[in-house]
Amino acid sequence: MAAEPYALVLGVAQDGGHPQPGCHQACCLGSEVRPHLTTCVAVIDDGRAWLLDVGPDFPHHLARIDALGVELAGVLLTHAHIGHYTGLVFLGREAMNTTQLPVWAAPGMSAFLASNGPWNQLITAGNIDLRQTDGTILLGSRLRAEAFQVPHRDEYSETVGWRVEGPGHSLLYVPDTDSWDGWDYPIEQHLVTVDVALLDATFFSSDELPDRDQAAIAHPTVVDSLRRFAPLEDTARAKIRFTHLNHTNPLLRPDSDEYIRVIRSGMGVAAEGDTFELGR
Ligand SMILES: [Zn+2]
Ligand SMILES: [Zn+2]
Ligand SMILES: [Zn+2]
Repeated sequence: MAAEPYALVLGVAQDGGHPQPGCHQACCLGSEVRPHLTTCVAVIDDGRAWLLDVGPDFPHHLARIDALGVELAGVLLTHAHIGHYTGLVFLGREAMNTTQLPVWAAPGMSAFLASNGPWNQLITAGNIDLRQTDGTILLGSRLRAEAFQVPHRDEYSETVGWRVEGPGHSLLYVPDTDSWDGWDYPIEQHLVTVDVALLDATFFSSDELPDRDQAAIAHPTVVDSLRRFAPLEDTARAKIRFTHLNHTNPLLRPDSDEYIRVIRSGMGVAAEGDTFELGR
């Protein structure tokens, strides 16, 4: 009997990673800084892994599943921002030269990959098997995944979140959204029916980037999210793990006051190496 399926967090940083190139502030410079990989979650069953997002840190994500003796079985993409799909370059003939690796993407994302280099070369060379989805897909024999669209600045593609269901538990992955409003199926309803929810927490608060127009930063801040989710049942709040953290976000430091505030609010912060059961 094979072990039960599970999810493994492989990265929690926003698209630019941490430290972020070009940042000369204390958040990214100095011997105290502990680095974080770009956002990625592996769902693993029977020695095979499907990655939710493959950003620029994909080689490190892959090394971690390799170390577990787990084989890459496919990729599920959220959208065409650099932290979420540019790791696909490593599947090409200059590096892994994979053969028909399944890559699932929503219709706009599929069209973007199919009509732009270097991504379309992965298709013509047979490195990836691009599978357009706007419904439920099967991952192996026991896992199902479904994409759902969320509002986000969509220059090149729409943006989706993923819901992954195993035989007994389920996971929600939404690394980028402009807002918790405007969803077809409200986030609070997802929180009733999933077991864990990895949610966009790019910026902790509107003080974080004083030089920029906050209205132009299209993410719910963690302060907003804490307020919004405060009225929920304890059990629903306990499912939340904040992720996709910008290099400036104090949640990257577990000793920060902001991190402690999240824990006291009954929610959590995702960390590389976290595992969540998807089996019975
Ligand atoms: Zn992102
Ligand atoms: Zn920084
Ligand atoms: Zn994005």
